[in-house]
Amino acid sequence: GKSTVIITGASSGVGLYTAKAMANKGWHVVMACRNLEKAEAAAQSVGIPKDSYTVLHIDLGSLDSVRQFVNNFRASGKSLDALLCNAAIYMPLIKEPLRSPEGYELTMTTNHLGHFLLCNLLLEDLKKSPHGDRRLVILGTVTHNPDELGGKIPPRPDLGDLEGFANGFKEPITMIDGKKFEPVKAYKDSKVCNVLTMRELHRRYHDSTGIVFSSLYPGCVAETPLFRNHYPLFQKIFPIFQKYITGGYVSQELSGERVASVIADPEYKQSGAYWSWGNRQKKDRQSFVQKVSPQARDDEKAEKLWDLSAKLVGLA
Ligand code: NDP
Repeated sequence: GKSTVIITGASSGVGLYTAKAMANKGWHVVMACRNLEKAEAAAQSVGIPKDSYTVLHIDLGSLDSVRQFVNNFRASGKSLDALLCNAAIYMPLIKEPLRSPEGYELTMTTNHLGHFLLCNLLLEDLKKSPHGDRRLVILGTVTHNPDELGGKIPPRPDLGDLEGFANGFKEPITMIDGKKFEPVKAYKDSKVCNVLTMRELHRRYHDSTGIVFSSLYPGCVAETPLFRNHYPLFQKIFPIFQKYITGGYVSQELSGERVASVIADPEYKQSGAYWSWGNRQKKDRQSFVQKVSPQARDDEKAEKLWDLSAKLVGLA
């Protein structure tokens, strides 16, 4: 039979085009999405063949929903050969934090805690897969890294000493560092957590399971709906700016092909790696393993984040 990959947030942008590219490689794609009709319509709009995908409900902003998704996936009887953690929210304009049903700030919950729980639960399924090459890939981003051009724009991510997590992460706490609510920083912080999680998964489980854990920055995919919650003028200018000024622009189609390569191609079978094609896109640009930011390569922080996240999602 076909190999199976779960892709979170496959109803739009990078996730949708990765689903398409994986189907083209002959995989079956489980599209893990919060809006089933939207996901179905999206799959059809990019021409994914009917027998190449299944749509399954998940709301990553709810830990109960993540657990329910895992039960539903297991009931399907499919083996799990790869997992892509891709879904994310970016809410640059909100003044007050949104909350998950558990009472946690929603950007960090959706992007990090929900995926952290999902990875931990599905690790068992990946271990059982007879596939010779199982992979777990988590989307990173250049804005996680202030050492890079694309990561220098403030506010910069800063996990502090994880005081917000250590103190329970519920009201009045809104940020992982326990400081004042800043929605753009919440997004960047969550992406640092994504990279730390990938590196800690690698450290804990690669040798014993053989599973390949990796992360990547696919380029600036300026036309995805990720920026749907930004000013309309920003949404218009951002792609043009990335295309003609910074040279960072990548089409959704190309971003999907890049992510699919990291999930399935032999040259990306390297655990613990963070792949990048650089900031400035040139034709036929090659990928390379990039050094992650000082915070994202801090092993002590990775371990502490793991323990605190496990507590918040109810695993410890
Ligand atoms: P989009 O906004 O286009 O897609 C995000 C996806 O996540 C959508 O399918 C959305 O569902 C889903 N999603 C959001 N919240 C939830 C939730 N609570 N439960 C389940 N699914 C949810 O963004 P992109 O494609 O641009 O981003 C995808 C990933 O790529 C992110 O991890 C982002 O950080 C990363 N990335 C993006 C870059 C870019 O330039 N765009 C650059 C670098 C990294 P719905 O369709 O229902 O809204």
